[in-house]
Amino acid sequence: MAVKPYDSENIFAKILRGDIPCNKIFEDDHVLAFHDIAPQAPTHILVIPKGAYTSYDDFAMNASDAEILAFTRAIGKIAAAAGVVQGGYRLISNTREHGRQDVPHLHVHIIGGKKLGLMLPRD
Ligand code: 5GP
Repeated sequence: MAVKPYDSENIFAKILRGDIPCNKIFEDDHVLAFHDIAPQAPTHILVIPKGAYTSYDDFAMNASDAEILAFTRAIGKIAAAAGVVQGGYRLISNTREHGRQDVPHLHVHIIGGKKLGLMLPRD
């Protein structure tokens, strides 16, 4: 199955262009982070690269060292600033069909603020 190319009409591309608003909590040259519109826990933050990457594998293979460094460091800073480091949290990056990815622009969910359920439902 061919991997779809980046779709510049996805909702996070629109947020990056400023076409639609977001509740921003962090921004630097390479990264934007904002609160999820439908939080699934007391802390539910989305961290996205500014570059046009569909998924973590796309980003890992094609982003520059500077972008990868900035993204990785931003996740650490944002988790600390959100106050979830001590209690713990979950990083999730849903990918394509099997991963149930809804928005085809790489994003990492930082979810925490309470004890979470099982990582995956048991079938
Ligand atoms: P995915 O299922 O692709 O891993 O996650 C997409 C996430 O984006 C969902 O948690 C959803 O609530 C969030 N989301 C979708 N549209 C918007 C939006 O317009 N603004 C914000 N802040 N979050 C959104």
